[in-house]
This record gives sequence, structure tokens and C-alpha cells, in this order.
Amino acid sequence: MKYRSLVVGGGINGLCTAWQLCRGGFGPVGLVEQFAPGHNRGSSHGTTRITRSTYADVTYVRLMQEAHGRAWPSLEAEVGQQLIHPGDGIFWGPPDGPIATYKAAVEQVGAAVDLLSPSQARRKFPAFRFPDAKEVLWDRSGGVVAAAQTMSGLWALMQRWGVGLHLGQKIQEIQHDPLSVRTESEVIEAEGIVVCAGPWAPKLFPGLGMSLSPALQTVGYWQPTGIRLEHPHFPVWVHLGREHVHYGLPAFPGQPGIKAAFHGTAEHPDDPDQPTTPQALRLELAQNFLEQQLSVSPGARISEENCWYTNTPTEDFILSPHPADPRIVIGAGFSGHGFKLGPLTGRILAELLWRGESSVAAFTQDRDRFRIR
Ligand SMILES: Cc1cc2nc3c(=O)[nH]c(=O)nc-3n(C[C@H](O)[C@H](O)[C@H](O)COP(=O)(O)OP(=O)(O)OC[C@H]3O[C@@H](n4cnc5c(N)ncnc54)[C@H](O)[C@@H]3O)c2cc1C
Repeated sequence: MKYRSLVVGGGINGLCTAWQLCRGGFGPVGLVEQFAPGHNRGSSHGTTRITRSTYADVTYVRLMQEAHGRAWPSLEAEVGQQLIHPGDGIFWGPPDGPIATYKAAVEQVGAAVDLLSPSQARRKFPAFRFPDAKEVLWDRSGGVVAAAQTMSGLWALMQRWGVGLHLGQKIQEIQHDPLSVRTESEVIEAEGIVVCAGPWAPKLFPGLGMSLSPALQTVGYWQPTGIRLEHPHFPVWVHLGREHVHYGLPAFPGQPGIKAAFHGTAEHPDDPDQPTTPQALRLELAQNFLEQQLSVSPGARISEENCWYTNTPTEDFILSPHPADPRIVIGAGFSGHGFKLGPLTGRILAELLWRGESSVAAFTQDRDRFRIR
């Protein structure tokens, strides 16, 4: 069996890349995924994700403008459903933390982000106290990504575009001559391969020395009373502490209560093939955070969920041809912020495979940032 384009990984990035390869006319396209669609062992499950323009770096602010302006609307049009649910995003933290860098980046690009004083912010977002803020960034281009719906919509597109699906097949090895992948039961050849393997990426490229650190995360869900919890009444939020980041989302259809978590890195890489349990310490940090920052008691946690980050040292994505074989392109290291950019990074990866460059200006202007180091 031989495809023109083969994608490894059925997370948001693999599915978006396969979709963009089909749209670009680079078929036949195949996709290999070790688990079943909808599995919860990687990074792309769960009901919701944050979207925002507020980033600490102008390149990501510009990428988000392209993602919100073109990439998501194209995907929504094909899936036939609303996937981005616009709402408010708020970002705050102590004035000597990283907030100034975020403010500078959004101001430089002219993103739809306004500055509020803490008292203005308390009036607009009464669920929050902002005890340590001098100013609050109000991202008017923020909102909720309907993540589970996005994933099921993309799987439906795979069927519609006739992508050859190899499900429940774990790739053991990528071979260069002939270009192919070997699973336990088959060898699949292709003219070009894009690998979006999430936390398994380091295992597929052990010799490449990519600085990738898979880090298990645990998010919690709470249902405080006395405030409106649901989107769009409750914002998406990120607290930019001096050392740590916490974030959260409103209640949303399919998601019981508000979501909140400690944004974590791992001192030592975690192994995605090992069984996992919820991380009690991180849930406690999120609970403490909510108790300090919400204007009402969060109450007891109602549920929790594990998920994987794959961090690079700078939290920049890897969107890069394989250094020794440009017929292989790698999308990895999405560092806990890759979902909202999936339809756009999928386009970049598809273009890199077949053109060696991308038509996304924000990417090409800063391409070295995304190379394998
Ligand atoms: C708790 C949490 C909260 C997050 N919040 C946000 C947010 O608010 N906003 C945002 O933008 N992003 C967020 N992210 C990040 C975002 O979800 C990830 O960046 C994104 O899902 C990464 O997708 P991926 O496709 O690269 O990886 P994955 O979803 O992990 O997909 C990789 C796929 O490859 C398959 N695979 C791997 N190895 C093999 C193999 N050898 N053979 C066959 N198949 C293989 C895996 O089974 C998996 O399905 C969050 C992540 C987590 C964990």
C-alpha cells in the first residue's frame, strides 16, 4: 500500500494536517493512529480549550490573527458547525510578572485586547477579585474552542475526503528507504510523511535530540454557586504569576462546571506509555488558586481529567522538516497551547511537506523559531 501523503497521529494536529493535505490536492492521504478515535490517552481530548490572541510574543499574536480570521472559519465551513465560541478572555498577574511582555506583544500587533484597571475588571467580571493585579488585559478575541466537537468533526472529514485510516496501529519505526512506516502488522509506504505524535514524538525519533519533555497534566472541574458559570457569562482566563501560570474556562455544554488547572512543566519527562492517575498536588494548587482569586468559594471539586503536554524549553512549537530527510515533516512540542492553532499549523505542516515552505507569513517571517534544535 502506498500513499502520496501519510500522517502519523490522530490528535488535533494530525487530523488538521490530513485535512489540509486533502484540500491542497496532496492525496491520496493515509493516517495512522495507535488508538481509536476519541481516545483520552493523548493531548486532544476533553470538551473545551481556550482561544485567545494574548501571547507574550508577536509571532504567536499574528498566528492567532490568521487562525481566527481564516483557518478556523474554513474548518467550521467544512464541518458545518460553529467550533469557536467568541467570548471574553482575561489575563492578569503581579506587575513584576510576565504580564508586561504580553501587553507589549498585543499592543505591537494591534490585537483586540484592552487594558482594564482592577476595579473596572471587577465590575465587568464580578466572579474574580484580581487581588494581585495592577492592570488586567481584556482579550475581546478570546473564547472557547469546542474541542470535542472539533475532533469529531475532523474525524468525519477524514471519512468524507476518503483518507485511508489505519486505526489501532502503533508505528514501531519510520524507515527511509523506501520511505515507510512499520506497525506490528503492516508496512505503509508514502512519498511524504508528517508526524504529529504528541508526547510519543521523542520515542519515534530517538536519535534526533529534539528537546521535548512530555508532562502529564491534571485539570479539575468545580461548580461554585452564586455566580454565572456558563459561557459567555464567565470568561476564559489565564493568571500569569511570577513563576507559575494557572488558567481556566467557563462551563460549556458537555462540560460540568468551570475548568481550572495549574499549567505545569515536568522536571523529568513523563512516559505516555505508563498508566496515569490524577495528580493530587496540581489539583490542590488549582483549588487554592480559585479560593484566593474567585469572589465566591469554589466549593469541592466535582471531577478531574488527565492530559499530556509535550513541552519544548521555550514553549515554541516544532514545525520542521526532518534534518536528514525533507520527505518527513515533524509537528511536535505544542507545549500546552497548540489546540487553538491546529487548523493553521496543519496548513503549515502540509505546505512544508510538499512545497518546503509555507504561505503563512507569520510563520515564514520567524521560521527559525520553529526548527528542530
Ligand atoms: C490539560 C490541557 C489543557 C490544554 N489547554 C489548551 C488550551 O486551552 N488551548 C490550547 O490551544 N491548547 C491547549 N492544550 C494543548 C493542546 O491540547 C495540545 O497542544 C494539542 O492537543 C496537541 O495535539 P497533537 O495532535 O500534537 O498531540 P496528541 O493529541 O497527543 O496526538 C498525538 C496522536 O498521535 C498518536 N500516536 C503517537 N505515537 C504513535 C505511534 N507510534 N503510532 C501511531 N499513533 C501514534 C497518539 O495516539 C495521539 O492520538 C491543552 C493541553 C492539555 C493537556
